[in-house]
Amino acid sequence: MRQLIAGNWKMNGLRADSLALARALAAGLEQPAGCDVLVCPPATVLAAVADALAGGGVMVGGQDCHPEPSGACTGDVSAPMLRDAGAGWVILGHSERRLGYGESNALVQEKARAAVAAGLTPIVCVGETEQQRLSGNAETVVAAQIDGSLPPGFAGVVAYEPVWAIGTGRTASEDDIVAMHRCIRSQLTETLGEAGAGLRILYGGSVKPAGAAALLALPGVGGALVGGASLVAADFLGIVRAAG
Ligand code: PEP
Repeated sequence: MRQLIAGNWKMNGLRADSLALARALAAGLEQPAGCDVLVCPPATVLAAVADALAGGGVMVGGQDCHPEPSGACTGDVSAPMLRDAGAGWVILGHSERRLGYGESNALVQEKARAAVAAGLTPIVCVGETEQQRLSGNAETVVAAQIDGSLPPGFAGVVAYEPVWAIGTGRTASEDDIVAMHRCIRSQLTETLGEAGAGLRILYGGSVKPAGAAALLALPGVGGALVGGASLVAADFLGIVRAAG
């Protein structure tokens, strides 16, 4: 399966910056990439970015959604709203939401159901904290996140993002990445049956162009979820090119 390189712009970018970034990506990808390419801008500029990228090789997604399609949920954005704005994907259960907003596995699972019902492909993030890794619990924590966060029949993407590697410039060792991806694959087949065997598993956590080719060549790595480096067109394109 083709690798997926997904950019998470987080809470960055006013309209002009976001459109400039989108146009730079489109211009840099005039030749079709050898992988799937996705950017997830803030909800405020999602429609504008989707319009700017329409018909090209870069797909667009949201960064979170509410489990309900509409209602009295001040400040939230629903999955059908993301779809209506031009998204085809949505990141769910990012550690910045699990830890910053207390999102549980059960809530992430509800959101994943809502995303699929709205026609979005969910990217469900999992990953251990540094404390959990140091205490030898990384695989148990991640397996429980997979088991609790994915609805039956899940047909999306899983992103393994060790919390301590996000935005820190530290990346997990190649051995740890391979071991965790193997653990995730085995949990996916246990939770989802045969369907779990073919799902893409991304790595995320301080992925930069240097080192991306080696990372993406590791067994079991189906792409990358990229934060900081996705805000710089040349860096993100460098990672896309490293994927083939
Ligand atoms: C992320 O937030 O999903 C992420 C991987 O960020 P960074 O690449 O900046 O570590």
